Amino acid sequence: MEEESRNPKFKRFKDQISKPTLKAIRDMGFTHTTDIQAEVLPKALDGMDVVATAKTGSGKTLAFLIPVIEVVLKTLESSVQGTSSIIISPTRELAMQTYSVLQDLIVHHESITSALVIGGENRKAQSSELAKGVHIVVATPGRLFDHMRSKEFDYRNVKCLVLDEADKIFQYGFEEDVKQIIGRLSKNRQTMLFSATQSETTDALIKSAMKENVTSINMNEDNDRATVEGLKQGYVICETEYRLFWLHKLLKKTQNSKVMIFFSSCKSVVFHHEFFSKYCRMPVLCIHGKMSQADRTETISNFYNTDKIALFCTDLAARGLDIPAVDWIVQFDPPSDPNEYIHRVGRTARGLGATGQAVILLRPEEKDFVNYLKEAKIYIDKYEMWDKFSNLQPKLDEAFLNPSFEALAVDAYEGYIRAFEVKKLKHVFNLLDINLEAVAKSFGLKKKPEIDVRIGFSKKHRPRKRMAATLATTGSAKQMKSQ
Ligand code: ADP
Ligand code: MG
Repeated sequence: MEEESRNPKFKRFKDQISKPTLKAIRDMGFTHTTDIQAEVLPKALDGMDVVATAKTGSGKTLAFLIPVIEVVLKTLESSVQGTSSIIISPTRELAMQTYSVLQDLIVHHESITSALVIGGENRKAQSSELAKGVHIVVATPGRLFDHMRSKEFDYRNVKCLVLDEADKIFQYGFEEDVKQIIGRLSKNRQTMLFSATQSETTDALIKSAMKENVTSINMNEDNDRATVEGLKQGYVICETEYRLFWLHKLLKKTQNSKVMIFFSSCKSVVFHHEFFSKYCRMPVLCIHGKMSQADRTETISNFYNTDKIALFCTDLAARGLDIPAVDWIVQFDPPSDPNEYIHRVGRTARGLGATGQAVILLRPEEKDFVNYLKEAKIYIDKYEMWDKFSNLQPKLDEAFLNPSFEALAVDAYEGYIRAFEVKKLKHVFNLLDINLEAVAKSFGLKKKPEIDVRIGFSKKHRPRKRMAATLATTGSAKQMKSQ
C-alpha cells in the first residue's frame, strides 16, 4: 500500500530501539510506523518533551510505549531504584488496554516489571507491587495519587511521565489529582502528552507540566479531514417518537456485525439494554459508569471476543478503547460537540487501511449539528430513514406489565432530558423546543411522566439553569464522571 511505503519501518530506529522491543513489534505484526509514530519516535527516543495530537486510531499508544521502555532500560543500566515511568489514562478501561499492549511489548524484556494501578481494583495488591518498585506504572489519576500519599511507593526517580488522552483527563474532573501528581514528581524528567484533539485545557497542562522547548506534533493540522479515510459516515433525521423503532430496525440490520451504540445517559443505556436483551431477545451488552469494575471488565472482554454483537454505552467507553473490528458506530444520542463525535467514531476504522461505518441519529431540530461537523472538517452524508418499522407494541406491552420496567423507562426519560443541560451547542440541542410527549413515547411510555424536567421556566429553577450553563462552558467535571 502507498501509505505503508511512505512510512519508515520500525527497523530504521534500530539504534534507538532495543532488540527485544523490535522483536515484540514484529511479533505484534507491525513492520511500518504509522504517521504519528514516525513523527514522535525520533524526538521521544531522544528524550525530548513531546505534545502529540493525532486522530484516534492512528497508533499513539506505541508512539509513547516504545520510548517509555527505552527510558526504563537506561535506568536499569544505572541501577536506580524505584519506578521510572508513569503512564496516566483518564479511564480504567483505557489504562487496562494500554497495560495489555505494554505486556506484549515487554514480553522479551525479562527484567522489566510493570503494574496496573486503577480504581475499583485491589488497593493492597497494588501497594505491594508498587512497594517492590515496579519499573512502569499504568494508572488512572485518582488511584495513583492515593498511592503517592502512602510511603510504600517510591516515585522519586520517575524519569518519564505520559499523559494519554490528556484533554479527557481534565474533562473527567481529574485536574486537581493530575496537578498534585505532577507537583510531586521530579522536574528532571521527560513528559509526553497525547491527545486526539487539542483544547485549552491541554494548553494549560502543557505550560505547567512540560519543559519550555517542548516539541509539538499535530497530525490534524495539515489534513483536510478530521476523521480517518476508511470511515463511511452519515446521518439520519428521525422524528423523536420513532427513535426506539429506528434503533430496533438498526439492530436487526446490523445483526451480523459488531456494533457500538452511544447514549447520553447511564439510565438510557440500562433501559434500552433491558428492553432489547430481555424483551426482544437480541444479543446486546451494556457498559456505563454505574457498573462495578468487574462487570465492566467482563463486558469489554465479551465484546472483544464476540463478532456479532451490539454494545450499548455512554461516552465512558468512547475514549481510547481499541476494540478490534467494530463495524458500526451508532450515535443514537448526539455527542455534545464535534470533538466528542470524533472520539466516538474513532472506535472504528482503526489502524492502517481499516474501514468502518458510522451513523448519527438527529431529531429534525438538531439538523444544524451537521454544519458544525462540517466546520470541524467532518463531512457526513444524509442517509434515508427506513420507512417500515416492526410493530414493537406487543413487546412493549409485555415489558410494561413489570412495574420495575416502567421505572426504568421513566428514569431513562429523565436521563435523556437531563443530558441536554450539559450539551454545549445550546441552539442545536435545545431543551425548550423539545416535545416531551414524543420523548416519552420514544421510551415506550404512553404519557409524559409527572416529572418537572423543564429548566429555566420558573424562578426556583434558575440557579440550576445557571449551573447547567457553567457546566456547558467549563466542560463539566462531575457530570462527565458519572457517565
Ligand atoms: P490511538 O491511541 O491513536 O487511538 P492506538 O494506539 O490504540 O491508536 O492504535 C490503533 C490501532 O492501530 C491498534 O489496533 C493498533 O494495534 C494498530 N497499530 C498501531 N501501530 C500500528 C502499526 N505501526 N501498524 C499497523 N497497525 C498499528
Ligand atoms: Mg489512544
